[in-house]
Amino acid sequence: MNNKNSYDFIIAGMGLAGLSLAMQLKNSSVKFNKVLLIDKDLKNKNDRTWCFWSKEDANWFDKIIFKRWSKFKFSSSGLNKVCEINPYQYCMIKGIDFYNFCLNELKSDIRFDFVTDEIKKIETKNNQAHLHTIKEEYHSMYLFNSAIRTPKIVQKHINYVQHFKGWLIETEENNFDVDCPTFMDFNIHQKNDCRFVYVLPFSSNKALVEYTGFSPKRIDDEEYDAELTSYIKLNLKIENYKVLEEEQGEIPMFESEFVNLFGNRVINIGTSGGSSKASTGFTFYFVQKHISELVKSLANGSPISFARKPKYLYYDRILMDVIDKKKMPASEIFETLFKKIPTPTILAFLNEESSLLQELRIMNSVPKLKFVPAALRKL
Ligand SMILES: Cc1cc2nc3c(=O)[nH]c(=O)nc-3n(C[C@H](O)[C@H](O)[C@H](O)COP(=O)(O)OP(=O)(O)OC[C@H]3O[C@@H](n4cnc5c(N)ncnc54)[C@H](O)[C@@H]3O)c2cc1C
Repeated sequence: MNNKNSYDFIIAGMGLAGLSLAMQLKNSSVKFNKVLLIDKDLKNKNDRTWCFWSKEDANWFDKIIFKRWSKFKFSSSGLNKVCEINPYQYCMIKGIDFYNFCLNELKSDIRFDFVTDEIKKIETKNNQAHLHTIKEEYHSMYLFNSAIRTPKIVQKHINYVQHFKGWLIETEENNFDVDCPTFMDFNIHQKNDCRFVYVLPFSSNKALVEYTGFSPKRIDDEEYDAELTSYIKLNLKIENYKVLEEEQGEIPMFESEFVNLFGNRVINIGTSGGSSKASTGFTFYFVQKHISELVKSLANGSPISFARKPKYLYYDRILMDVIDKKKMPASEIFETLFKKIPTPTILAFLNEESSLLQELRIMNSVPKLKFVPAALRKL
Protein backbone atom coordinates (compact mmCIF):
# COMPACT_ATOMS: atom_id res chain seq x y z
CA MET A 1 0.00 0.00 0.00
CA ASN A 2 1.46 3.34 -0.99
CA ASN A 3 1.25 6.65 0.80
CA LYS A 4 -1.06 8.20 -1.77
CA ASN A 5 -3.72 5.83 -0.44
CA SER A 6 -3.46 7.24 3.06
CA TYR A 7 -6.20 9.64 4.27
CA ASP A 8 -7.38 11.41 7.40
CA PHE A 9 -10.90 10.19 6.73
CA ILE A 10 -12.54 7.85 4.25
CA ILE A 11 -16.21 8.27 3.44
CA ALA A 12 -17.51 4.97 2.05
CA GLY A 13 -20.76 5.64 0.13
CA MET A 14 -21.60 8.95 -1.53
CA GLY A 15 -25.35 8.93 -0.98
CA LEU A 16 -27.29 11.06 1.45
CA ALA A 17 -25.18 10.38 4.54
CA GLY A 18 -21.75 10.32 2.89
CA LEU A 19 -22.24 13.59 0.98
CA SER A 20 -23.92 15.26 3.99
CA LEU A 21 -20.90 14.34 6.10
CA ALA A 22 -18.44 15.64 3.51
CA MET A 23 -20.38 18.93 3.20
CA GLN A 24 -20.58 19.40 6.95
CA LEU A 25 -16.87 18.55 7.34
CA LYS A 26 -15.96 21.06 4.64
CA ASN A 27 -17.82 23.81 6.51
CA SER A 28 -16.54 22.81 9.97
CA SER A 29 -13.55 23.60 12.17
CA VAL A 30 -12.38 19.96 12.01
CA LYS A 31 -8.74 19.85 10.92
CA PHE A 32 -7.91 17.49 8.05
CA ASN A 33 -5.72 17.42 4.94
CA LYS A 34 -7.19 14.63 2.83
CA VAL A 35 -10.55 12.91 2.66
CA LEU A 36 -11.42 10.11 0.26
CA LEU A 37 -14.99 9.70 -0.98
CA ILE A 38 -15.73 6.39 -2.67
CA ASP A 39 -18.85 4.99 -4.34
CA LYS A 40 -19.55 2.38 -7.00
CA ASP A 41 -22.01 4.76 -8.59
CA LEU A 42 -21.45 8.12 -10.31
CA LYS A 43 -24.42 9.73 -8.51
CA ASN A 44 -25.66 11.34 -11.71
CA LYS A 45 -29.25 10.08 -11.71
CA ASN A 46 -32.39 11.49 -10.16
CA ASP A 47 -32.99 8.29 -8.23
CA ARG A 48 -35.00 9.65 -5.28
CA THR A 49 -36.98 12.58 -3.91
CA TRP A 50 -36.50 13.47 -0.28
CA CYS A 51 -39.22 14.97 1.90
CA PHE A 52 -38.79 16.03 5.50
CA TRP A 53 -40.06 18.71 7.84
CA SER A 54 -37.93 21.15 9.74
CA LYS A 55 -38.34 24.35 11.67
CA GLU A 56 -34.78 25.53 11.17
CA ASP A 57 -34.36 28.12 8.48
CA ALA A 58 -30.61 28.00 8.05
CA ASN A 59 -29.48 24.64 6.74
CA TRP A 60 -26.52 24.02 4.46
CA PHE A 61 -28.86 22.45 1.83
CA ASP A 62 -31.35 25.36 1.79
CA LYS A 63 -30.36 26.41 -1.75
CA ILE A 64 -31.51 23.12 -3.25
CA ILE A 65 -34.88 22.80 -1.53
CA PHE A 66 -37.13 22.49 -4.57
CA LYS A 67 -40.41 23.13 -2.74
CA ARG A 68 -41.43 24.23 0.75
CA TRP A 69 -44.97 23.97 2.04
CA SER A 70 -46.61 25.42 5.16
CA LYS A 71 -49.54 22.98 5.07
CA PHE A 72 -50.46 19.55 3.76
CA LYS A 73 -53.47 17.33 3.35
CA PHE A 74 -54.28 14.20 5.38
CA SER A 75 -57.08 11.91 4.12
CA SER A 76 -58.63 8.71 5.37
CA SER A 77 -62.14 7.24 5.35
CA GLY A 78 -63.07 9.29 8.45
CA LEU A 79 -61.04 12.46 7.97
CA ASN A 80 -60.18 14.93 5.23
CA LYS A 81 -58.09 17.68 6.67
CA VAL A 82 -55.76 20.42 5.49
CA CYS A 83 -53.20 20.67 8.28
CA GLU A 84 -51.31 23.88 9.03
CA ILE A 85 -47.85 22.87 10.19
CA ASN A 86 -46.29 26.10 11.47
CA PRO A 87 -43.55 26.32 12.90
CA TYR A 88 -42.56 23.46 10.58
CA GLN A 89 -42.13 23.57 6.83
CA TYR A 90 -42.58 20.48 4.71
CA CYS A 91 -39.65 20.44 2.28
CA MET A 92 -38.73 18.51 -0.82
CA ILE A 93 -35.30 17.98 -2.41
CA LYS A 94 -34.68 16.19 -5.70
CA GLY A 95 -31.93 13.58 -5.49
CA ILE A 96 -30.09 14.88 -8.56
CA ASP A 97 -30.03 18.46 -7.22
CA PHE A 98 -28.55 17.17 -3.98
CA TYR A 99 -25.84 15.10 -5.69
CA ASN A 100 -24.90 17.89 -8.15
CA PHE A 101 -24.79 20.57 -5.47
CA CYS A 102 -22.61 18.52 -3.10
CA LEU A 103 -20.27 17.23 -5.81
CA ASN A 104 -19.74 20.73 -7.29
CA GLU A 105 -18.92 22.18 -3.89
CA LEU A 106 -16.68 19.32 -2.82
CA LYS A 107 -14.78 19.06 -6.12
CA SER A 108 -13.73 22.70 -5.75
CA ASP A 109 -11.96 21.83 -2.47
CA ILE A 110 -8.59 20.11 -3.05
CA ARG A 111 -8.82 18.29 0.28
CA PHE A 112 -11.42 15.88 -1.18
CA ASP A 113 -10.48 12.98 -3.51
CA PHE A 114 -13.07 10.92 -5.39
CA VAL A 115 -12.95 7.29 -6.49
CA THR A 116 -15.61 5.33 -8.39
CA ASP A 117 -15.15 1.68 -7.44
CA GLU A 118 -16.89 -1.15 -5.64
CA ILE A 119 -15.99 -1.60 -1.98
CA LYS A 120 -15.19 -5.23 -1.21
CA LYS A 121 -14.21 -5.06 2.43
CA ILE A 122 -13.90 -2.64 5.34
CA GLU A 123 -11.97 -3.39 8.52
CA THR A 124 -9.91 -1.99 11.39
CA LYS A 125 -6.27 -3.15 11.32
CA ASN A 126 -3.32 -1.83 13.37
CA ASN A 127 -5.59 0.85 14.80
CA GLN A 128 -6.45 2.22 11.36
CA ALA A 129 -9.47 1.83 9.10
CA HIS A 130 -8.82 -0.07 5.86
CA LEU A 131 -10.97 -0.19 2.76
CA HIS A 132 -10.40 -2.75 0.01
CA THR A 133 -11.55 -2.71 -3.60
CA ILE A 134 -10.51 -5.39 -6.08
CA LYS A 135 -7.31 -3.52 -7.02
CA GLU A 136 -6.62 -1.03 -4.26
CA GLU A 137 -6.40 -0.69 -0.52
CA TYR A 138 -6.92 2.65 1.24
CA HIS A 139 -6.45 3.48 4.89
CA SER A 140 -7.35 6.30 7.24
CA MET A 141 -7.65 7.39 10.83
CA TYR A 142 -11.43 6.97 10.67
CA LEU A 143 -13.79 5.59 8.06
CA PHE A 144 -17.47 6.55 7.82
CA ASN A 145 -19.53 3.82 6.24
CA SER A 146 -22.96 4.12 4.65
CA ALA A 147 -22.25 1.68 1.81
CA ILE A 148 -22.31 -1.67 3.61
CA ARG A 149 -25.40 -2.43 5.70
CA THR A 150 -25.09 -5.04 8.42
CA PRO A 151 -28.35 -5.46 10.33
CA LYS A 152 -28.28 -8.05 13.09
CA ILE A 153 -31.61 -9.68 12.38
CA VAL A 154 -33.33 -11.15 15.43
CA GLN A 155 -36.14 -13.52 14.41
CA LYS A 156 -38.69 -12.36 16.96
CA HIS A 157 -38.22 -8.70 15.99
CA ILE A 158 -40.61 -6.86 13.73
CA ASN A 159 -38.57 -5.95 10.66
CA TYR A 160 -40.77 -4.23 8.11
CA VAL A 161 -39.85 -2.20 5.06
CA GLN A 162 -41.41 0.97 3.85
CA HIS A 163 -41.72 0.16 0.14
CA PHE A 164 -42.89 2.43 -2.61
CA LYS A 165 -43.09 3.30 -6.24
CA GLY A 166 -43.75 6.79 -7.54
CA TRP A 167 -44.56 8.35 -10.90
CA LEU A 168 -43.84 11.95 -11.76
CA ILE A 169 -46.83 12.71 -13.98
CA GLU A 170 -47.65 15.61 -16.25
CA THR A 171 -51.32 16.30 -16.95
CA GLU A 172 -53.04 18.22 -19.75
CA GLU A 173 -55.06 20.37 -17.38
CA ASN A 174 -54.13 22.12 -14.14
CA ASN A 175 -55.02 19.43 -11.63
CA PHE A 176 -52.82 20.13 -8.62
CA ASP A 177 -52.83 22.71 -5.86
CA VAL A 178 -49.16 23.76 -5.83
CA ASP A 179 -49.45 25.03 -2.27
CA CYS A 180 -50.76 21.84 -0.72
CA PRO A 181 -49.17 18.40 -1.03
CA THR A 182 -50.89 15.26 0.24
CA PHE A 183 -48.95 13.87 3.19
CA MET A 184 -50.92 10.64 3.46
CA ASP A 185 -54.06 9.48 1.68
CA PHE A 186 -55.39 6.20 3.07
CA ASN A 187 -58.42 6.15 0.75
CA ILE A 188 -57.16 3.11 -1.15
CA HIS A 189 -57.55 -0.64 -0.58
CA GLN A 190 -55.62 -1.41 2.58
CA LYS A 191 -55.45 -5.14 1.72
CA ASN A 192 -55.26 -5.94 5.44
CA ASP A 193 -51.99 -4.01 5.45
CA CYS A 194 -50.84 -0.39 5.73
CA ARG A 195 -51.07 1.37 2.37
CA PHE A 196 -51.25 5.05 1.47
CA VAL A 197 -50.41 7.44 -1.34
CA TYR A 198 -48.64 10.76 -1.11
CA VAL A 199 -48.75 13.47 -3.75
CA LEU A 200 -46.08 16.16 -4.16
CA PRO A 201 -47.16 18.88 -6.59
CA PHE A 202 -44.21 20.31 -8.57
CA SER A 203 -46.52 22.68 -10.44
CA SER A 204 -50.24 22.90 -11.26
CA ASN A 205 -49.90 20.18 -13.91
CA LYS A 206 -46.97 18.13 -12.60
CA ALA A 207 -46.83 15.97 -9.46
CA LEU A 208 -45.04 13.02 -7.97
CA VAL A 209 -47.63 10.41 -6.98
CA GLU A 210 -46.14 7.75 -4.72
CA TYR A 211 -47.83 4.49 -3.67
CA THR A 212 -46.45 3.35 -0.32
CA GLY A 213 -46.79 0.41 2.05
CA PHE A 214 -45.47 -0.68 5.42
CA SER A 215 -45.09 -4.46 5.40
CA PRO A 216 -42.60 -7.29 5.84
CA LYS A 217 -41.87 -7.36 2.07
CA ARG A 218 -42.31 -5.13 -0.96
CA ILE A 219 -45.05 -5.96 -3.46
CA ASP A 220 -44.75 -6.87 -7.16
CA ASP A 221 -44.07 -4.20 -9.73
CA GLU A 222 -47.36 -4.97 -11.55
CA GLU A 223 -49.29 -4.29 -8.35
CA TYR A 224 -47.66 -0.87 -7.89
CA ASP A 225 -48.47 0.02 -11.49
CA ALA A 226 -52.08 -1.11 -11.15
CA GLU A 227 -52.52 0.78 -7.86
CA LEU A 228 -50.92 3.97 -9.21
CA THR A 229 -53.09 3.81 -12.34
CA SER A 230 -56.21 3.29 -10.26
CA TYR A 231 -55.36 6.10 -7.79
CA ILE A 232 -54.71 8.63 -10.57
CA LYS A 233 -57.97 7.72 -12.30
CA LEU A 234 -60.32 7.20 -9.36
CA ASN A 235 -58.94 9.41 -6.57
CA LEU A 236 -57.30 12.22 -8.53
CA LYS A 237 -59.87 11.93 -11.36
CA ILE A 238 -57.21 12.40 -14.03
CA GLU A 239 -57.65 10.63 -17.38
CA ASN A 240 -54.87 12.07 -19.53
CA TYR A 241 -51.33 12.19 -18.29
CA LYS A 242 -47.77 11.29 -19.17
CA VAL A 243 -45.35 9.52 -16.82
CA LEU A 244 -42.15 11.58 -16.99
CA GLU A 245 -40.06 9.77 -14.38
CA GLU A 246 -40.29 6.84 -11.99
CA GLU A 247 -38.71 6.17 -8.63
CA GLN A 248 -38.91 3.22 -6.32
CA GLY A 249 -37.25 1.79 -3.29
CA GLU A 250 -37.53 0.41 0.17
CA ILE A 251 -36.40 1.72 3.51
CA PRO A 252 -35.80 -0.56 6.48
CA MET A 253 -38.28 -0.11 9.33
CA PHE A 254 -36.29 -2.44 11.56
CA GLU A 255 -36.65 -3.24 15.19
CA SER A 256 -33.38 -5.17 14.79
CA GLU A 257 -30.25 -3.04 14.99
CA PHE A 258 -27.70 -2.17 12.35
CA VAL A 259 -24.42 -3.18 13.96
CA ASN A 260 -20.79 -2.31 13.34
CA LEU A 261 -18.80 -5.37 12.28
CA PHE A 262 -15.78 -3.38 11.14
CA GLY A 263 -13.95 -2.42 14.33
CA ASN A 264 -13.42 0.77 16.29
CA ARG A 265 -12.00 2.91 13.47
CA VAL A 266 -15.20 2.55 11.44
CA ILE A 267 -18.33 4.55 12.21
CA ASN A 268 -21.57 3.63 10.48
CA ILE A 269 -23.70 6.52 9.21
CA GLY A 270 -26.99 6.92 7.34
CA THR A 271 -29.32 3.93 7.21
CA SER A 272 -26.33 1.71 8.14
CA GLY A 273 -25.87 3.87 11.24
CA GLY A 274 -29.50 3.56 12.39
CA SER A 275 -30.77 6.85 10.91
CA SER A 276 -33.93 5.36 9.33
CA LYS A 277 -36.78 5.69 11.80
CA ALA A 278 -38.42 2.31 12.37
CA SER A 279 -42.01 3.51 12.55
CA THR A 280 -41.96 5.82 9.50
CA GLY A 281 -38.87 5.15 7.36
CA PHE A 282 -38.07 8.87 7.44
CA THR A 283 -34.29 9.28 7.25
CA PHE A 284 -33.27 12.64 5.74
CA TYR A 285 -33.81 14.74 8.85
CA PHE A 286 -32.18 12.18 11.18
CA VAL A 287 -29.14 11.92 8.94
CA GLN A 288 -28.63 15.69 9.21
CA LYS A 289 -29.03 15.60 12.99
CA HIS A 290 -26.67 12.66 13.43
CA ILE A 291 -24.05 13.98 11.06
CA SER A 292 -24.01 17.33 12.80
CA GLU A 293 -23.46 15.59 16.18
CA LEU A 294 -20.74 13.49 14.60
CA VAL A 295 -18.92 16.51 13.14
CA LYS A 296 -19.10 18.31 16.50
CA SER A 297 -17.56 15.28 18.18
CA LEU A 298 -14.82 15.12 15.52
CA ALA A 299 -14.00 18.77 16.17
CA ASN A 300 -13.55 17.76 19.81
CA GLY A 301 -11.13 14.98 18.87
CA SER A 302 -13.05 11.69 18.84
CA PRO A 303 -16.07 10.70 16.79
CA ILE A 304 -19.16 9.25 18.39
CA SER A 305 -21.53 6.74 16.84
CA PHE A 306 -25.07 7.87 16.77
CA ALA A 307 -27.43 6.53 19.42
CA ARG A 308 -31.14 7.21 19.18
CA LYS A 309 -32.91 8.18 22.40
CA PRO A 310 -34.23 4.92 23.95
CA LYS A 311 -37.71 6.34 24.58
CA TYR A 312 -38.22 6.94 20.83
CA LEU A 313 -36.99 3.44 20.00
CA TYR A 314 -39.58 2.21 22.47
CA TYR A 315 -42.40 4.31 20.95
CA ASP A 316 -41.46 3.00 17.49
CA ARG A 317 -41.60 -0.57 18.73
CA ILE A 318 -45.01 -0.09 20.29
CA LEU A 319 -46.46 1.38 17.10
CA MET A 320 -44.94 -1.37 14.94
CA ASP A 321 -46.28 -4.01 17.33
CA VAL A 322 -49.84 -2.66 17.10
CA ILE A 323 -49.58 -2.58 13.29
CA ASP A 324 -47.93 -6.00 13.02
CA LYS A 325 -50.39 -7.75 15.36
CA LYS A 326 -53.26 -6.06 13.45
CA LYS A 327 -54.64 -4.68 16.72
CA MET A 328 -55.70 -1.51 14.92
CA PRO A 329 -55.35 -0.62 11.23
CA ALA A 330 -52.53 1.88 10.59
CA SER A 331 -55.01 4.10 8.73
CA GLU A 332 -57.10 4.38 11.93
CA ILE A 333 -54.05 5.06 14.10
CA PHE A 334 -52.96 7.97 11.89
CA GLU A 335 -56.57 9.16 11.55
CA THR A 336 -56.93 9.24 15.35
CA LEU A 337 -53.71 11.21 15.72
CA PHE A 338 -54.58 13.74 13.00
CA LYS A 339 -58.11 14.14 14.45
CA LYS A 340 -57.10 14.68 18.05
CA ILE A 341 -53.59 16.13 18.05
CA PRO A 342 -52.34 19.39 16.52
CA THR A 343 -50.26 18.50 13.46
CA PRO A 344 -47.08 20.33 14.64
CA THR A 345 -47.17 18.12 17.77
CA ILE A 346 -47.35 14.97 15.62
CA LEU A 347 -44.47 16.25 13.50
CA ALA A 348 -42.39 17.08 16.59
CA PHE A 349 -43.07 13.56 17.90
CA LEU A 350 -42.09 11.89 14.62
CA ASN A 351 -38.95 14.06 14.41
CA GLU A 352 -38.04 12.91 17.94
CA GLU A 353 -38.03 16.45 19.30
CA SER A 354 -41.29 16.40 21.30
CA SER A 355 -41.70 17.46 24.92
CA LEU A 356 -42.90 15.02 27.57
CA LEU A 357 -46.21 16.87 27.67
CA GLN A 358 -46.68 16.41 23.91
CA GLU A 359 -45.83 12.71 24.25
CA LEU A 360 -48.38 12.26 27.05
CA ARG A 361 -50.99 13.96 24.88
CA ILE A 362 -50.24 11.57 22.03
CA MET A 363 -50.34 8.51 24.32
CA ASN A 364 -53.64 9.69 25.72
CA SER A 365 -55.17 10.02 22.25
CA VAL A 366 -54.81 6.38 21.19
CA PRO A 367 -57.01 3.51 22.46
CA LYS A 368 -55.46 2.15 25.67
CA LEU A 369 -56.81 -1.37 25.08
CA LYS A 370 -54.77 -1.67 21.89
CA PHE A 371 -51.63 0.17 22.94
CA VAL A 372 -51.07 -0.80 26.60
CA PRO A 373 -50.63 -4.56 25.82
CA ALA A 374 -48.18 -3.61 23.04
CA ALA A 375 -46.31 -1.32 25.44
CA LEU A 376 -46.07 -4.19 27.95
CA ARG A 377 -44.94 -6.66 25.28
CA LYS A 378 -42.21 -4.29 24.12
CA LEU A 379 -40.93 -3.28 27.56
C1 LIG B 1 -36.62 6.33 -3.80
C2 LIG B 1 -36.38 6.70 -2.35
C3 LIG B 1 -37.09 7.77 -1.81
C4 LIG B 1 -36.86 8.13 -0.46
N1 LIG B 1 -37.56 9.19 0.07
C5 LIG B 1 -37.32 9.58 1.33
C6 LIG B 1 -37.98 10.72 1.88
O1 LIG B 1 -38.83 11.34 1.23
N2 LIG B 1 -37.67 11.11 3.15
C7 LIG B 1 -36.75 10.45 3.90
O2 LIG B 1 -36.48 10.88 5.04
N3 LIG B 1 -36.14 9.34 3.42
C8 LIG B 1 -36.40 8.89 2.16
N4 LIG B 1 -35.74 7.80 1.66
C9 LIG B 1 -34.90 7.01 2.60
C10 LIG B 1 -33.47 7.54 2.82
O3 LIG B 1 -33.46 8.93 3.02
C11 LIG B 1 -32.59 7.23 1.63
O4 LIG B 1 -32.56 5.86 1.38
C12 LIG B 1 -31.15 7.74 1.83
O5 LIG B 1 -30.57 7.83 0.57
C13 LIG B 1 -30.31 6.85 2.76
O6 LIG B 1 -29.04 7.44 2.88
P1 LIG B 1 -27.71 6.58 3.01
O7 LIG B 1 -26.60 7.52 2.83
O8 LIG B 1 -27.78 5.76 4.22
O9 LIG B 1 -27.78 5.55 1.78
P2 LIG B 1 -27.66 5.86 0.24
O10 LIG B 1 -28.11 7.25 -0.06
O11 LIG B 1 -28.33 4.74 -0.45
O12 LIG B 1 -26.09 5.81 -0.02
C14 LIG B 1 -25.34 4.62 0.02
C15 LIG B 1 -24.31 4.70 -1.09
O13 LIG B 1 -23.45 3.58 -0.98
C16 LIG B 1 -23.13 3.14 -2.28
N5 LIG B 1 -22.72 1.74 -2.20
C17 LIG B 1 -23.46 0.68 -1.78
N6 LIG B 1 -22.72 -0.44 -1.82
C18 LIG B 1 -21.50 -0.08 -2.27
C19 LIG B 1 -20.31 -0.80 -2.52
N7 LIG B 1 -20.19 -2.13 -2.29
N8 LIG B 1 -19.24 -0.13 -3.02
C20 LIG B 1 -19.30 1.19 -3.24
N9 LIG B 1 -20.41 1.94 -3.02
C21 LIG B 1 -21.49 1.30 -2.53
C22 LIG B 1 -24.40 3.37 -3.08
O14 LIG B 1 -24.12 3.47 -4.47
C23 LIG B 1 -24.92 4.67 -2.48
O15 LIG B 1 -24.49 5.80 -3.21
C24 LIG B 1 -35.94 7.40 0.35
C25 LIG B 1 -35.28 6.32 -0.23
C26 LIG B 1 -35.48 5.97 -1.55
C27 LIG B 1 -34.76 4.77 -2.11
